[in-house]
Amino acid sequence: MIEMAKKTLTEAERKRLQGERQQAQAELERLREYLKTEPEPTGDEVDLAVYEREKHLALVRRLEQKIAEIDRALETAKKGTYGICERCGNPIDPARLAALPETTLCIKCKSELEKIARRTTPR
Ligand SMILES: [Zn+2]
Repeated sequence: MIEMAKKTLTEAERKRLQGERQQAQAELERLREYLKTEPEPTGDEVDLAVYEREKHLALVRRLEQKIAEIDRALETAKKGTYGICERCGNPIDPARLAALPETTLCIKCKSELEKIARRTTPR
């Protein structure tokens, strides 16, 4: 029987992911707390308050996405498929994994998905 080259996380990699998740979680909670406090803007401050709120909401969405990605990466590590692209099944470039340990897509699939996402937004 040939042993498949299963990639699991080293202790350090797992700790790094968990650390990043904790950081994102803390940041998310801070932002949610901020968004809970309803400002009472008057006059010119309305636009600014709306703008600030939009900015914070976008950040919240990004952080939620990041946490979900980290959870997925940790899940694939448990199954022994960490570092394997979820979309095409090819191994993800180790350099990419080192820079972005929560990624579950290879660079090719990622850019293809981004292209698709861009296409759906009108110019
Ligand atoms: Zn791929």
